[in-house]
Amino acid sequence: MSKLNPRQSEAVKYIDGPLLVLAGAGSGKTSVITQKIAYLIQQCDIPAHRIVALTFTNKAAREMKERVSQIVKGKQARGLTVSTFHNLGLNIIRKELSALGLKNGFSIFDDQDSRTLLTELLHKDSEVGADEIGQVRNAISSWKNDLVSPSIAISRAADEEDMRAAHTYAQYDRMLRAYNAVDFDDLILLPSLLLRDNEDILEKWRNRIYYMLVDEYQDTNSSQYLLVRLLVGNRARFTVVGDDDQSIYAWRGARPENLAQLAEDYPSLKVIKLEQNYRSSGRILKCANQVIANNPHVFEKQLWSEHGYGDPIRVKRCRSEDHEAEKIAGDILNQHMQNKRPFKDFAVLYRGNHQSRLIELKMQQFQIPYKVSGGSSFFSRAEIKDVMAYLRVLINSDDDNAFLRIVNTPRRELGPTTLEKLGQYAQNRERSLFSVCCEMGLGEVLNTRQHSMLKRFHDWIEETRDNLQRGHAVAAIKQMLRDIDYENWLVEQSSSSKMAERRMENVWHLVQSIERMLEKSDDENDVESVISKLILLDILEQQKEEDDSDKVQLMTLHASKGLEFPYVFLMGMEEELLPHRSSIEEDNIEEERRLMYVGITRAKKELTMTYTAKRKQYGEEFEPTPSRFLDEMPQDDLAWEGRGEKKSKEESQALGQAHLSNLKNLFD
Ligand code: ATP
Ligand code: MG
Repeated sequence: MSKLNPRQSEAVKYIDGPLLVLAGAGSGKTSVITQKIAYLIQQCDIPAHRIVALTFTNKAAREMKERVSQIVKGKQARGLTVSTFHNLGLNIIRKELSALGLKNGFSIFDDQDSRTLLTELLHKDSEVGADEIGQVRNAISSWKNDLVSPSIAISRAADEEDMRAAHTYAQYDRMLRAYNAVDFDDLILLPSLLLRDNEDILEKWRNRIYYMLVDEYQDTNSSQYLLVRLLVGNRARFTVVGDDDQSIYAWRGARPENLAQLAEDYPSLKVIKLEQNYRSSGRILKCANQVIANNPHVFEKQLWSEHGYGDPIRVKRCRSEDHEAEKIAGDILNQHMQNKRPFKDFAVLYRGNHQSRLIELKMQQFQIPYKVSGGSSFFSRAEIKDVMAYLRVLINSDDDNAFLRIVNTPRRELGPTTLEKLGQYAQNRERSLFSVCCEMGLGEVLNTRQHSMLKRFHDWIEETRDNLQRGHAVAAIKQMLRDIDYENWLVEQSSSSKMAERRMENVWHLVQSIERMLEKSDDENDVESVISKLILLDILEQQKEEDDSDKVQLMTLHASKGLEFPYVFLMGMEEELLPHRSSIEEDNIEEERRLMYVGITRAKKELTMTYTAKRKQYGEEFEPTPSRFLDEMPQDDLAWEGRGEKKSKEESQALGQAHLSNLKNLFD
């Protein structure tokens, strides 16, 4: 612990009451949490299983666990909980199933599943656009994050549109329960409400937890705030750390006011501020401080650093988005070859996921290993999830979640009412949805047409399964895709025919993988094991740790929170991208500025920002305005490149020999 500065050390050792560490980026807040866990176990003899540390992402939780295990070895750390809020919620739900009215094997709906369900609910009356579905989805999510029940939402509705959304919310929740399912927001909402309304259960959980620590506290929403508050109780043994300037999840219900709320709820709250930054060069820090100074502040904090002043911050003007991607990739390659900088020391950050496409392409062209974090992996693509769901039902027809995903994809006129009745019928009998489809009893609750549709679907599944098990597996899968005319469905669902084509290619890629795996397997009919392997691969894919491999990291600004990299590229420094158009329209520049602050403070040694002179949108070319945030930076510390540049001489030099020789590899 000798490395900690006096204030950090005070924060680690203070265990007499509630503590808030409020400090800017890179000041060691996360380090305080990690060290404090070790201190509680080693110096205060608190059993590890009675300590709970909460973070916002799986990646952050993994990293924290890793850091703790370097200090606290073996048995001592056993039972320690370092998890995301959602994982803690899931644990509570699992242990309190009956009190929540859920059954074993309940399903968790991800965002896509929720949207599908809402589409079905809203399609009942009329054709509803994707926009409205998105809006209702967001409204429901906000209500859940703010602890607003359907009945309260209905009572508060101000106009017809609100009322429709609130009623959809009520119906959506009823459907979830009928399906024995919860959605992502429920993972926090349900435990919070359960603990609030049930003293015995609350007491049990309170007694289990001796000390709680929470990182990135500024991003807690109301239901997370309540959950922590309930769990720590009046004993209030907790440390939370945060930075109001890094609050970037308002759109997901985060309430940075929760920082101030703490002081009200816990009058004995101690506040420690940290001001030394251990991450960035003086210049990067100055730049960050100056930008964020444009936001109003409740808590004043000035960061300083003992690292050198560092190189100027580069701002590159590029001719087009293609040129921008090429410059970044070329620059990284150059630095890698000439200065022996490992690829993993570089990060490319952007405002929106769609911005990664071109840079990915260039990375591939230049053969630079890269990893897109937080973006969608192969298995999280809708079309792959669809086909995997079909396969899941084929090998386990009791997989209700997969059944629900496919029953109306493509549409089979099995509307929400039918499915609600089916869900109710199955739940009353504690059976799976598939298993009751053909029952006579169901015929009494459904009308003849609905019931025969379901039976037809059921029989088709049986027949396809037969083909899969008895015949040639890959041929059976291809036949299945033809039966449901999946290609046509993709055309209907995609915004362009190109996109539909790409998505169908992904499907063929999956089918080919199955084919290859079957070829390798000894038993020719081993399709079930191949598919379960794929499902497992899916789970692994989501949890895979790739951090130690040497790859350039590509991610959104949101996903970069809490992380640090020696060399950071920030692309698309343009009005309407950063700040984002929707925030400009809603006059919410402050949140964008915090995002900018997060981006700048990820960099340890060098920061490069890029913007383009021309960009294409919806096929139209336009000339973007450089981001206002560039004007807010200390101009003497910026080194502009490419302003007034006509064409490519400087550029081709910048790409350098290294890139050319690498390009040659492409043709070998
Ligand atoms: P952010 O606001 O971005 O989440 P943070 O406040 O959580 O940042 P950390 O990630 O804990 O900051 O620390 C930033 C860097 O400073 C890390 O590399 C960490 O190892 C280092 N660091 C923290 N405290 C010290 C210290 N006392 N001496 C040397 N290095 C330190
Ligand atoms: Mg941190």
